[in-house]
Amino acid sequence: MSEKTLFEKIAAREIPATIVHEDEHCMAIKDISPQAPVHILVFPKKRISRVGQASEADAPLLGHLLLSAANIAREQKLGDGFRLVINNGPHGGETVPHLHVHLLGGRQLGWPPG
Ligand code: AMP
Repeated sequence: MSEKTLFEKIAAREIPATIVHEDEHCMAIKDISPQAPVHILVFPKKRISRVGQASEADAPLLGHLLLSAANIAREQKLGDGFRLVINNGPHGGETVPHLHVHLLGGRQLGWPPG
């Protein structure tokens, strides 16, 4: 298998991160360059490069990522609202090729996104 992704290295504690949630299937960390007062990345421990490359067999895992993000939003007291974002590919703004859900909140977010 090719070299570990950034998030695999974080999950293996080879690179430090502020971990806000971890379970058997996923991990959530604070984004190193936060774009909102709360900016957390939720990613699967299994390597999936991007949502566009997920398979039907990944459906439970994808659901688990969304539900974990919603639970973390509750823990972070984002009752006024929050946004989940998945960037896919160059035009989507993806920079880390390991699927992750951005959880953003703590301020009024604009629409449309850039
Ligand atoms: P994306 O651009 O959607 O692929 O998101 C990648 C995110 O990972 C960006 O928001 C980065 O700020 C964040 N990031 C990059 N390196 C780290 C790191 N070492 N720890 C935490 N977040 C990171």
